[in-house]
Amino acid sequence: MNKHLPITDAKLHPIYDKVQAAERLSFEDGITLYESPDITGVGFLANIARERKNGNFAYYNINQHIDYSNVCILHARCHFCAFARKNIETEGAWEMSVDEFLDKAMYAIDNGCTEIHSVGGLHPKLPFEYYLDMLRGLKKRMPQVHLKFFTAVEIHHFSRIFKMSIKEVLVALREAGLDSLPGGGAEIFAEETRDKICPGKLSAEGWLDVHRQAHEIGIPTNATMLYGHLETDADRVDHLIRLREQQDESGGFATFIPLAFHPANTRMAYLPSPSGLTDLRNIAASRLLLDNFPHIKVYWIMTGLKVAQVALSLGADDIDGTVMEEKITHMAGASTPESITVEEIIRLIREAGKIPIERDTLYNEIIREGNRWYRKKAA
Ligand code: SF4
Repeated sequence: MNKHLPITDAKLHPIYDKVQAAERLSFEDGITLYESPDITGVGFLANIARERKNGNFAYYNINQHIDYSNVCILHARCHFCAFARKNIETEGAWEMSVDEFLDKAMYAIDNGCTEIHSVGGLHPKLPFEYYLDMLRGLKKRMPQVHLKFFTAVEIHHFSRIFKMSIKEVLVALREAGLDSLPGGGAEIFAEETRDKICPGKLSAEGWLDVHRQAHEIGIPTNATMLYGHLETDADRVDHLIRLREQQDESGGFATFIPLAFHPANTRMAYLPSPSGLTDLRNIAASRLLLDNFPHIKVYWIMTGLKVAQVALSLGADDIDGTVMEEKITHMAGASTPESITVEEIIRLIREAGKIPIERDTLYNEIIREGNRWYRKKAA
């Protein structure tokens, strides 16, 4: 090994050879990435893979998060969740009307957002028309804005309570204006750990099946992994490899987002928050193992801005967006702001030595002229 390379752990040397040759990494390689004490070496390897895919660019977007309701039938089941409430009478519960939702979304137009991201709890009573009306109303008011709505767990819930197949739900939502699905609800796929942190939630197979079916009809999606709770390194590698296999088969994942567990106000509040190094290792390992994912996003809301900035040199090529009114992580004690300005994002990216590119949800570059914006199609 060249003495100038910043790899001190000899166990990483064979992985270096594979990364240089763009060879796929194995399960055992993944374990080595998680166990190596040489985080600088792991990050160095991830940066090779990152630059091969995305050069020196770092993407961000201008988006708005709106969570339509936090009433959820699984409120007692997901032990990591500080967001859900039993019903609308419970303290801290909310449920927006379609008009309230549409009014809130006017922020997106006023602030040049290219995306609205919306998820909610598994509501027991709202009719299917409610979800369709939200999408239709938005598409009518802001046809240019990309609508990234509903996790696979919500889609499965709609299928169950409205007695429709997954495909029928997806087709109806797409006809109403849905453009893509976010990646939430994946948590950790490994059954034993999944049963401990969210017993009774949609299974790993169920989650992957919703994404498979979305890809089959041309709806792109994202993927996530929740880390920093009870999962083992083997669980993490297993999760990433199951995603890689799904991507080989159906090919519709745009980006992967590792999500740091925030324990405050959850039933797992006895656990410590994941450290900055754990955040960075998950970014780096996912970049290296997910060789068929075009992008790895560091979600600054969960990692904090400082870790997110460093992650741009250790595998991440996307820092998410302006966000606006994030609720899910802040109800679990996140100390990050609920939104940041475009100027701050650009400054952070430039300071990290990267070239900022504003993107839409599907990584088309956004060009702005005064108050107008348009998409430059990805090459
Ligand atoms: S994680 Fe989602 S499904 Fe689970 S309780 Fe929270 S809102 Fe409900």
